[in-house]
Amino acid sequence: ADHEPVRTTCPYCGTGCGVLGGPAPMTPGDPEHPTNFGRVCAKGSALGETLGLENRLLHPMVGGRRASWDEALDLTARRFAEAVEKHGPDSVAFYVSGQLLTEDYYVANKLMKGFIGSGNIDTNSRLCMASSVAGHRRAFGEDLVPCSYEDLDEADLVVLVGSNAAWCHPILFRRLTDARARRGTKIVAIDPRRTATAADADLFLPVQPGTDVLLFNGLLAHLARVGRIDRDFVSEHTNGFEDALAKAQSDAPEFYAIAEECGVPFDDLVAFYDLFAATERTVTVYSQGVNQSSRGTDKVNAIINCHLATGRIGHAGMGPFSFTGQPNAMGGREVGGLANQLAAHMTLENPADLDRVQRFWKTQKLATASGLKAVDMFDALADGRIKALWVMGTNPAASMPNGNQVRKALANCDFLVVSDCVPGTDTARHADVLFPAAGWGEKDGTVTNSERRISRQRAFMPLPGETRPDWRIVCDVAQRMGFGEAFGFRNAASIFREHAALSAFENHGERVFDIGGLADLTDHEFEALKPVQWPVPAGQRAGTARLFCDRRFPTPDGRARFIAVGQQAPANATGQGHPVVLNTGRLRDQWHTMTRTGEVARLMAQAPEPVLELNPADAISLGIADGGFAEVSSAWGRAVARVRVTTDQTKGQAFLPMHWTDDVTAHGSPGRVANPACDAVSGQPELKHTPARLAPF
Ligand code: SF4
Repeated sequence: ADHEPVRTTCPYCGTGCGVLGGPAPMTPGDPEHPTNFGRVCAKGSALGETLGLENRLLHPMVGGRRASWDEALDLTARRFAEAVEKHGPDSVAFYVSGQLLTEDYYVANKLMKGFIGSGNIDTNSRLCMASSVAGHRRAFGEDLVPCSYEDLDEADLVVLVGSNAAWCHPILFRRLTDARARRGTKIVAIDPRRTATAADADLFLPVQPGTDVLLFNGLLAHLARVGRIDRDFVSEHTNGFEDALAKAQSDAPEFYAIAEECGVPFDDLVAFYDLFAATERTVTVYSQGVNQSSRGTDKVNAIINCHLATGRIGHAGMGPFSFTGQPNAMGGREVGGLANQLAAHMTLENPADLDRVQRFWKTQKLATASGLKAVDMFDALADGRIKALWVMGTNPAASMPNGNQVRKALANCDFLVVSDCVPGTDTARHADVLFPAAGWGEKDGTVTNSERRISRQRAFMPLPGETRPDWRIVCDVAQRMGFGEAFGFRNAASIFREHAALSAFENHGERVFDIGGLADLTDHEFEALKPVQWPVPAGQRAGTARLFCDRRFPTPDGRARFIAVGQQAPANATGQGHPVVLNTGRLRDQWHTMTRTGEVARLMAQAPEPVLELNPADAISLGIADGGFAEVSSAWGRAVARVRVTTDQTKGQAFLPMHWTDDVTAHGSPGRVANPACDAVSGQPELKHTPARLAPF
């Protein structure tokens, strides 16, 4: 029994595979987890090799020297309280992470919005899926993912838009190719690059960056033309169809014009439209290629419009399906980790929600307005409006666009606190206080994956050194700021119960996010909790696989909303000085800034260094050799990387992986180059489209 493996969840992508933790070497997936049934990808299989303590931060640091917990906590509480006292609550901010567990997220949000009284808590999920959140809220009235992974197994057509699932959600892609082998599922990939996913698709549309709305408006117009609109569903359960269709029709008059502007062969465009029109069981997956755009929210709604028009939602094997990037981006969305959400899918704009949360938290200081979204938050740090910032479990110096300004702002910040597992990140090196956080395998709580499935992350190793779980560090600071009563949590289970109770508090079905059925879990039941998909309303313990089966949406009149969206070019156009589109993204075997995956030699073998990918025609005209080095520069900064010349890249576009920071190679960080233009609705930055110039280096 001593060697019984512990059932936990992989800390990498939003697929959320169950894995077995235990004595190293530990590799296998959890055969009982309904997401992956025992399978894991290369990253998951190497988890056992990432548990060493060589690189770990094991004790608090203040001003670059080792300090006691009391000193670090006292100083943090005092400096935050002083800033609030002198400059008001909006002079402080938290920047948190989709790597945090739901319980960590919950207390951080409760402290900032509930007791400090500012909306200034945002998360690196803003960089990942904020446009999907905004699109869901516009269409459904709430941030809801209708589908379940089972729908991938049961679809006849799966359209992947801006999703390199073969690399970024490998186990989901394997589920999809299994379904193809079993039932002949057709896979369509829509992406500016010929990715591994595109190469394995039955049909690949190499769209020009930023033309997705036009492509899907053309599809909506086509569906109307060929009589594929579900008139009953549209008239009984939706609003706004005629406006959305009129906009789509005026946007996308003829196939040939759409094909030309989208950069897609005419025959392939027609084949896609016909396939979509003819296939009832269609799932459309969208990911960062859609979200990381100055028009990301419109793209999401252009996709959802096509599903609403055909009534393909709330049935097996169909629906619009956002794949989240991070392991717990969804959990963060649930607790209100985004600056424009309150908690439990309630909003800061709704007085009834504010009143409800204020009474539930028993606070007089609740924030009453949205806080600063990520890019705005770092702008406010740069110009001195933010006096104290606490970064938890993320490295914005490397990952934010306009990275040079972000680095300068972090360096000049009056008071910077960083909680992390490792001491040397580009952000941590500017910290006044560094808190040693517990890592994967050491901490307990829950995460939610892309299909709304809440799974336990369980500790299977002792806390090393003086590390503490993130939730506890936040509570320790909250207590020192005088909010002890509201933060007297004993363990992750007690936080989860409060979070679940808040989701059900005065919720008579208005909000779909309701896990009231889990609010009375005992510690023992929490320990044993099996993966479950929300909602789980009071009186239930079983979850809900699929939403909207009853054709009701959480809008005031119960109807879903079409959004009339028009094609618009990306915010910053390419031009004379910067003629190339720089795109950024993930590689198969790395995770974020490589603090964990970078430790594993066999994962590093896939790509030992950052490589800029470039079309042969561009390489020739720029005089850049395959295997040589190139400098990529934009109006915001520059990076240098080795070059791979490949026809997978379209002419006029270049791709740089997001993982390398300046710690690993001298100038490999794409954040320094990326433009900070954001989607006006979601605040998500346009990391997929930066006008750039290339030159041999
Ligand atoms: Fe982990 Fe994602 Fe791989 Fe599953 S697919 S093992 S969650 S990285």
